[in-house]
Amino acid sequence: MQLFDTHTHLDAPQFDEDREQVIARALEAGVTKMINIGFNRETIPTTMKLAETYDYIYAAVGWHPVDAIDMKDGDLEWIASLCSHPKVVAIGEIGLDYYWDTSPKEVQQEVLRKQIGLARELGMPICIHNRDAHEDVVRILREEKANEVGGVMHSFSGSWETAKMCLDLGFHLSFGGPITFKNARVPKEVLEKTPLDRLLIETDSPYLTPHPFRGKRNESGYVKLVAEAAAEIKGIDLQELAEITYANALVRFGIV
Ligand SMILES: [Zn+2]
Repeated sequence: MQLFDTHTHLDAPQFDEDREQVIARALEAGVTKMINIGFNRETIPTTMKLAETYDYIYAAVGWHPVDAIDMKDGDLEWIASLCSHPKVVAIGEIGLDYYWDTSPKEVQQEVLRKQIGLARELGMPICIHNRDAHEDVVRILREEKANEVGGVMHSFSGSWETAKMCLDLGFHLSFGGPITFKNARVPKEVLEKTPLDRLLIETDSPYLTPHPFRGKRNESGYVKLVAEAAAEIKGIDLQELAEITYANALVRFGIV
């Protein structure tokens, strides 16, 4: 069985003590491909380093909405130049975050629009971070014609209504730890209705740790727990769920 963790942060300081072991445990769990996300000035270089060191780690690079206020002249060009690297498979994570009030909404929206524009110019899929901003995210995706490139709604947490609009725009929905939580009614319902050919799985490690490790540090190997929960919700076996989501990720990110 092969699993694909489509969203992880293995360069995070939480892994400084044991990064090698964390990666080894992911491989043991059957995780044979991962996408590490570089989302600001600090994490883009560390993400590129991981992608250059490990065959099975790919990179997404973009500017996170929480850090939107720190984006300077030249940063968009920096991201653009990295997109020609063979291991860079997406622009992200980009989006809107109305929970952490660190960057004004207008600045977040401008930074998002610019990066969708870049993705269209370069023909790259995008990885969308959306926290408490469902309406604006969908509106901007539409206005900026993000359907021309598509991408992933990472750690999708919206309603089925929002999910439907994202699916109509050609996006994939990626689910993580929250689908393993007993009380997570909405994400489970959305997952149940999501077409299998649009489904992806992820950890977002070190965050969003699945049951039964909730409250502890997350790691990429735990994507197996996400896969098990998704298989149960979908009513298919783990092997099939793994195969489908793995193949979806290869196609979505253009990995051969
Ligand atoms: Zn993330």
